[in-house]
Amino acid sequence: MPTKRDYYEILGVEKGADINAIKRAYRKLAMKYHPDRNKDDDAASEKFRETTEAYEVLSDTDKRARYDQYGHAGVDDQMQDFWARGGFQESQAFHDFGDVFGDVFGDIFGFGGGGGGRASRGADLRYQLDMSLEDAAHGREVELNIPRHAACETCHGSGARPGTHPVPCRTCGGHGQVQMQQGFFAVRRTCPECQGQGTRIDSPCVECGGAGRIRKTKTLKVRIPPGVYDGAQVRVGGEGEAGMQGAPTGDLYIVIRIQKHTIFERDGADLHCNMPITFPQASLGSEVDAPTLSGRVKIRIPAGTESGKVFRLRGKGVPDIRVNQTGDLYVHVHVAVPRKLSKKQEHLLREFATETGDDVYPECASFLDKAKQFWDDLAGEVKS
Ligand SMILES: [Zn+2]
Ligand SMILES: [Zn+2]
Repeated sequence: MPTKRDYYEILGVEKGADINAIKRAYRKLAMKYHPDRNKDDDAASEKFRETTEAYEVLSDTDKRARYDQYGHAGVDDQMQDFWARGGFQESQAFHDFGDVFGDVFGDIFGFGGGGGGRASRGADLRYQLDMSLEDAAHGREVELNIPRHAACETCHGSGARPGTHPVPCRTCGGHGQVQMQQGFFAVRRTCPECQGQGTRIDSPCVECGGAGRIRKTKTLKVRIPPGVYDGAQVRVGGEGEAGMQGAPTGDLYIVIRIQKHTIFERDGADLHCNMPITFPQASLGSEVDAPTLSGRVKIRIPAGTESGKVFRLRGKGVPDIRVNQTGDLYVHVHVAVPRKLSKKQEHLLREFATETGDDVYPECASFLDKAKQFWDDLAGEVKS
């Protein structure tokens, strides 16, 4: 791995810099290197990535403390996670892009959708949901508490005091953009008066202060379909942040994290499990209970079953939503060795051992034959 530069150095701030200085430094650099302004410039996009990473760590009290104490090693794993998830979405189980970018960039790049000179669409929200393998396999209805901006009920999202209406902006005539002459060029830019909304509120709603939305925790029931896999995103349309002044609402993305299971390991739609059986069960044959996600299932172990034999239970895996089929469960048996024997057990086993020869251990006999051959060959080579 190439040597990483110091985060403070990247942002050009002192070690003890406060959060405002860090934000200012990041804003300046991010504006300079932002991909929107540096199309197809790899060096700039690398700089942007580097500054964003430095900002992500230094703007977070916990991560910054770890970084100060241990350097890059203290935060590298988290940063890998961070990028793997597409950047600015980590920090908490819950994250609002709008807040982070809005905070740092203001309206410079118009993060959170919008454009076209209208009030911006609400930000998308991301919610990390931890699920057990059983729930993921069977599907489940979950209740989520989501803190977010919702349309203000008093003004129905318009931001104007009830009984009044937003009026077209006088500066831009309601277009949200104004044209300016710069030399030979006519440049269109966001209207400075209405910030691109095209309307002005003379008499703001008291409840929301004219924003048209207020912060509220919503309880939402969502049905997670059976067969979701780790890292899957379930999109719930229209359940993100409310837009400003009646603009469309963003979407909610539920990111599924499946907890490690104590018995099963998942491979796509199939499940695998290691199951010990006893030495007499393996030798004499028996019927044993194998675990499945929906309870126990009897497996017949034939006499003389060896360690490593795999029993396939059709349809006992996880549903595969894409092909509308359910995977299989593979039970890998291994023969457990009897330990901590009592005097009597030990005696019986010794007696058993003296009673038995090569004939009852065909594997051992055939291996020994091969080994003898190998030793003979070896001795022959040494002589010659
Ligand atoms: Zn309101
Ligand atoms: Zn305007």
